[in-house]
Amino acid sequence: MLDEVRATSSTRAKVAALGGYLASLGDDDLRRACTFLRGAPFPPGDPRRLGVGWVAIGAVLRELTRAPGDEFHATYRRHGDLGDTAAELLARYPPALFRAPLTLETVARGFEAIAGAQGAASRRVKAAALRTLFHDAAPREAAYLVKIMTSDMRVGLREGLLLPAIASASGRDPAEVRRAALLIADPGEIAVRARHNALHETAIEPGRPFRFMLASPVDAPRDAFAASVPALWVEDKYDGIRVQVHRTAERVAILSRTLDVVTAAFPELVAPLEAVGRAYVFDGEIVAWEGARPLPFVLLQQRLQRRDPLRFMVEIPVVLICFDVLHAGGRDLLGAPLSARREVLQALLPRGPVRLSAGSLARTPEELEARFRAARDAGHEGIVMKRPDSPYQPGRRGRLWTKWKPGVGTLDVVVVAAEYGHGKRAGILSDYTFAVRDGARLVTIGKAYSGLTDEEIAGLSAWFHAHTRRDLGAARLVEPVRVLEVAFDAITKSRRHDSGYALRFPRIVRIRDDKPAGEIDTLDRVRAMHAALARRAAGARDGPPSS
Ligand code: AMP
Repeated sequence: MLDEVRATSSTRAKVAALGGYLASLGDDDLRRACTFLRGAPFPPGDPRRLGVGWVAIGAVLRELTRAPGDEFHATYRRHGDLGDTAAELLARYPPALFRAPLTLETVARGFEAIAGAQGAASRRVKAAALRTLFHDAAPREAAYLVKIMTSDMRVGLREGLLLPAIASASGRDPAEVRRAALLIADPGEIAVRARHNALHETAIEPGRPFRFMLASPVDAPRDAFAASVPALWVEDKYDGIRVQVHRTAERVAILSRTLDVVTAAFPELVAPLEAVGRAYVFDGEIVAWEGARPLPFVLLQQRLQRRDPLRFMVEIPVVLICFDVLHAGGRDLLGAPLSARREVLQALLPRGPVRLSAGSLARTPEELEARFRAARDAGHEGIVMKRPDSPYQPGRRGRLWTKWKPGVGTLDVVVVAAEYGHGKRAGILSDYTFAVRDGARLVTIGKAYSGLTDEEIAGLSAWFHAHTRRDLGAARLVEPVRVLEVAFDAITKSRRHDSGYALRFPRIVRIRDDKPAGEIDTLDRVRAMHAALARRAAGARDGPPSS
């Protein structure tokens, strides 16, 4: 079915094919199908992990197909994709025994068994479950199984197709489906609600992930007042990881910007969060913090990557700074003005590792500038400005929240191609061509190779090898998933890149795995930055304005 979707180039036809398929399923299978179509084994907010990677999958495939010697590697090199490798090997060397065709239910059971395997025998149990799945899979099914297990389909079939297909399957208005999916970011749940005509009842619920409200960048303080607001609520822009906290009667769950469950990485926050109340949803930022100041973002990243967070609790302390509350004790607060939501937060939050963001009102660009300098002096990235009367708008990047970072600024971009380096980086994919978003398209804007540590480059290189779309010899076109923050000295107009712009002296500030590729900077933002920089350059030449 997915090959059919892949083969048709018209979006309309893709949506119709998917919609027809979804409409044919019972409720349980509908949930499963939507989860798998997102390219993940479990719905967002589900803490289970498969814990199998390339190596485990490759070993099972080799054993099952008995492909001779280096054929596995040769096939992989040809495709540059483990899913397509699995399909080809299984087609060429089908397992001898009778296949029991896969169903959505058997796949779900298989994933549960893999994720549930624990302790000393876990590797064996995972391998056995993998073997059963691949044994019963038709070759193309095996390709998709691999893509789901390695979360590769995220790119191909995002919600861009899935949500319209859900609308088509249930006969609902696509806009209504999209709106509901911002409040409950689980397409399986949305599909079942759409089918039973229950979308209008959708609200933020503790325990169900939602899409974060985001801030639009501004390049000068006066731009923040553009919409003639009398006053703005100003907060520090914390340089940590954005999280949503869900407290239900059973548990506390902390979810990252990509809606992954990260609770286990921050054990010290759980008890304080449990003490706050029994049913709530907070929005905030986890920041590495010592004494009165934030610690660099890289330290926090180190904590996320470790398996033994307890060791790092002392070395890299963190705080959770909450700046919003969307639900508290049975009350939906989404439509309440920010000022009222903050009063609720203030009444709930203790001091300690879980705290309220500090903020104040600013009425003029000069006040904003002073606030900005204070934030920088205190070790923060910049400021976030919010309209005091604004509701919380899940999934929106509007003008109700704006952010201001210093200097020329940085861009969040996605890597679309990687090239081999030279000298000590020969054989390593270390030069990255990156792109910004222009609607649904990605347009390239620059290339950078400096700024990362050898370890980070080695990690990226391995990932790009495993996620190559096309191998061009000296370079590889790669799946546009890895987000980088790049700094630069200027933006110039240029024909060299599809965007029509180029960055001068781009350097990589950091890898932004906390940010999904759907949220990178846009070509519109590049245009605005280009214009603002040109204005600034003109201002510098002419001297300061006389007013
Ligand atoms: P950026 O990471 O540059 O896209 O900046 C936007 C991010 O700033 C948001 O997604 C939040 O993670 C973060 N942020 C930091 N401080 C705040 C704050 N006080 N209010 C809202 N968002 C914040």
